[in-house]
Amino acid sequence: MEQIFKSTRGGEKRIKSSQGILKGISSDGGLYVPEIFPSLKSDFDKLKGMNYKECAFYILKKYFVDFTDDELKECIDKAYDSKFSSEEIISLAAVENIYFLELYHGKTLAFKDMALSILPHLIKCASDKSENKKEIVILTATSGDTGKAALEGFANVNGIKIIVFYPEKGISEVQKRQMQTQEGKNTFVIGVNGNFDDAQRAIKEVLNDDEFKNLLEKNDYMFSSANSINIGRLIPQIVYYVYSYFKLLRENRIDSGEEINIVVPTGNFGNILAAYYSKKMGLPIDKLICASNENNVLTDFINTGIYDCERNFLITNSPSMDILISSNLERFLYDISGQDSKVINKLMKDLKENSKYEINDYMKSNMKDLYGDFANDNEVLKGIKEIYEECNYLIDTHTSVGYMVYKKYKEKTGDNKKTIIASTASPFKFTKSINDALELSDENDEFKLIKELSEIIKIEIPKGVKDLEDKEKIHNEICNKDEIKNVIKNILKA
Ligand SMILES: *Cc1c(COP(=O)(O)O)cnc(C)c1O
Repeated sequence: MEQIFKSTRGGEKRIKSSQGILKGISSDGGLYVPEIFPSLKSDFDKLKGMNYKECAFYILKKYFVDFTDDELKECIDKAYDSKFSSEEIISLAAVENIYFLELYHGKTLAFKDMALSILPHLIKCASDKSENKKEIVILTATSGDTGKAALEGFANVNGIKIIVFYPEKGISEVQKRQMQTQEGKNTFVIGVNGNFDDAQRAIKEVLNDDEFKNLLEKNDYMFSSANSINIGRLIPQIVYYVYSYFKLLRENRIDSGEEINIVVPTGNFGNILAAYYSKKMGLPIDKLICASNENNVLTDFINTGIYDCERNFLITNSPSMDILISSNLERFLYDISGQDSKVINKLMKDLKENSKYEINDYMKSNMKDLYGDFANDNEVLKGIKEIYEECNYLIDTHTSVGYMVYKKYKEKTGDNKKTIIASTASPFKFTKSINDALELSDENDEFKLIKELSEIIKIEIPKGVKDLEDKEKIHNEICNKDEIKNVIKNILKA
């Protein structure tokens, strides 16, 4: 049987991967999912000998079957090159029986780089394959990390323009400066007076405005998405789980067939879903531990089967996980329902109408591999301090959510299996919180603080923030949310 993608809501024909990558989301509102989860089992020996790029090719080839070998290899080569500060693309840091899977050695210092380095090349290639003559426009509102990673990924890719709106309020100084200094003729960055929700809502309105869509069609543009619902982002995330398992095996840190646990600090449920997919492919994983901050909708869902986002949105010190609607959960629901799109339609209708749904007993019984808990801001700071002082290892706030939830899990269950914790951002991206945890300096200016901390803790400042303060601010435009549509029109000269 050949791999093909279908919608979780069942309202659309099955489509090729290249079409799924181009469209982003299905026209019935559902998400694309693969029909088959190919088994890794007969290739364990081969996988043990692969480097990151070879492993990426192996996985991508199983899902994106309508791409040629050469096309996939070209995308992989362009994505995973010297943009990454570590030649191995990822690192595994051993701290007792924990392995921190450092996914932040890309340009923007967060795990989003892992997938957003390759997505633009997959979109470009899919567009060429479908003989699309229109120029692609990527439109994104960002709460911080996605925007910059997308800008870096799409900068100077031919035939694509990228427009990012960030909220003037609510992102860190480093995040803002990273975007304002973005180079590339095809990149456009605009601040919005308001918070992330305002920017996000305004963009959704633009994308659903028929008159606007027609205008763009007439001018030979098509919109696409860099959001984490795109299968071109999801599938490349499977790679690092598979790669790190076989790296542990190669380095004799685990035995052949030994089961491990994986902990993922979670927001939109994309990263942990990739880990779940790798388990479905036969990677020896026992528990998937879903770690949330105080926006703990997922913790409650995993423990009760009820998803209820009727609650206050909290701003925490792990801002990239401040989210109440985890879009990628729909793919997980589809899987545990036995791929029943009728059930999914009902649940998503409940969510839309009542901000709430409850899954049935059959689905609950299929959730046993998933464990959920959360950590609050104070615990997060405690975790950073503890692991720095006891093990001389520095983690960021998001990773600390994972670490604290893992500690709770271990205490409760006594499970001593070797465990991978996904480390999703460099501590230098969230220096203020690191300083809150370690109390090393009275400095308030974020850039000065970065320099001070780097000297005190004797870790070199990563390239992505080092020269930021002196870089030219290229993008200075700020608009009100009701001006967004006109700003886009001006950029596209439509
Ligand atoms: C996006 C992000 C997350 C959450 O990942 P999801 O795939 O949305 O669950 C966690 N940590 C950091 C640093 C992020 O940028």
